[in-house]
Amino acid sequence: MNPVRTRFAPSPTGFLHVGGARTALYNYLFARATGGSMVLRIEDTDRQRSEEHFTGAILDSLEWIGIEGYEGPHYQSQSLEHYREAAERLIGSGAAYWDEDPEKGRAVKLLMHDDLVEVADMIHGTVEFDASLADDFVIMKSDGYPSYNFACVVDDHRMGITHVIRGDEHLSNMPRQIALYDALGFQRPRFAHIPMILGPDGVKLSKRHGATSVGEYRRQGYLSEALVNFIALLGWSPGDGREIMSLEEMAAAFTIERVRKVPSQFDHEKLQWMNGQYIMRLDPDRLAAEMADFFAANGIDISGRSADWMRNFVAAYRERMKTLKDGLDASRFIFDDSIEYDAAAVRKVLGREGAIERLSDLREVLSGDYDWTVENIEMRLRSYCEKVNVGFGKVAQPLRVAITGGMVSPPIFETLYLVGRKRALRRIDVILSGSAEALEEGRET
Ligand code: GLU
Repeated sequence: MNPVRTRFAPSPTGFLHVGGARTALYNYLFARATGGSMVLRIEDTDRQRSEEHFTGAILDSLEWIGIEGYEGPHYQSQSLEHYREAAERLIGSGAAYWDEDPEKGRAVKLLMHDDLVEVADMIHGTVEFDASLADDFVIMKSDGYPSYNFACVVDDHRMGITHVIRGDEHLSNMPRQIALYDALGFQRPRFAHIPMILGPDGVKLSKRHGATSVGEYRRQGYLSEALVNFIALLGWSPGDGREIMSLEEMAAAFTIERVRKVPSQFDHEKLQWMNGQYIMRLDPDRLAAEMADFFAANGIDISGRSADWMRNFVAAYRERMKTLKDGLDASRFIFDDSIEYDAAAVRKVLGREGAIERLSDLREVLSGDYDWTVENIEMRLRSYCEKVNVGFGKVAQPLRVAITGGMVSPPIFETLYLVGRKRALRRIDVILSGSAEALEEGRET
């Protein structure tokens, strides 16, 4: 048997979507699982719809999800002589002919025979097609470019592809492609058509269901490892109950036999859960780097923040976020002084007898002469509590409301550290100076 050779053959007519990413992934995993290789082929022969920037975006997305080490990319638009030669051969043998269309111009068409075509599909089993339903079809268009079916068959043969793994929307192309294999005298590869992905409502996944492209999920703060793991499980499972799996682990376990015959459903909650699992387990430095990139991509300037700051940030927020975006949304108060005060929190916490005096004491404690580290802040605040003999909550809550505007945040030492000393003192001052009005307002509402 020849070594396995698969291919991923996107058309650069859009971004890499979840379905395309899954096709790429299964081709990649199957090649790796069998010690074979994968080819990347850009099917850019539709000159109206193909755009170069889509090719770039597809390559970026593949790289981001960790698909690498493939051969190519090969561009069909750069292989026109192969299709021309094959078309000439077909015309020579009488299998194809020139056809003059008043509107579309002169093109080459393949002669279809009324056969019953049987294909052994690795996922669907034996599939039968009645080719008599298919008319003769264009293989070389009047612009000198091949049609999809033709270029696909010529390339799959010439690139030595052993397994064609693709979405089952291409099953309908089988009668034409099989006719081409037969007319060209090519041996057929093996086919595996993957069932489609459905949205939560049971209808084919589309824009209507929200984000569909890999790039959108990236921008929403999903980690590539989580997304790739989730996408792999849309139609495949290792069969031993494992769910959280690295690309390596999936490559070791992948078989086409375990690809489901029925469509799978896209479950956003599961993706969120899985992303949360990855965030929880990710190496701290990696998570810090991911978070830093995410801040930067969202226009939050963290250029002045130290590596220590980033490490503390992810330590404080790791368990509070399922996506990087959750972390960004929950921490906006750190970067932006125009915080919104939760009136109920102000009333409840700062309106309490003695709270303002306490805050004024705490301002003193926080402005002392020491390095602004989580440990130092904790030490000073704890010794203040001992000195005046109050419970820690009496100190943490007024500080939290003053610094964040609300009653929910990571532990107060970490929160203070992350906000920074200057900002923290400034916000306390806002409360101290405006306390009367703030509290009045609090009482009124
Ligand atoms: N260019 C086709 C597509 O994007 C590829 C189909 C195939 O894999 O044969 O759907």
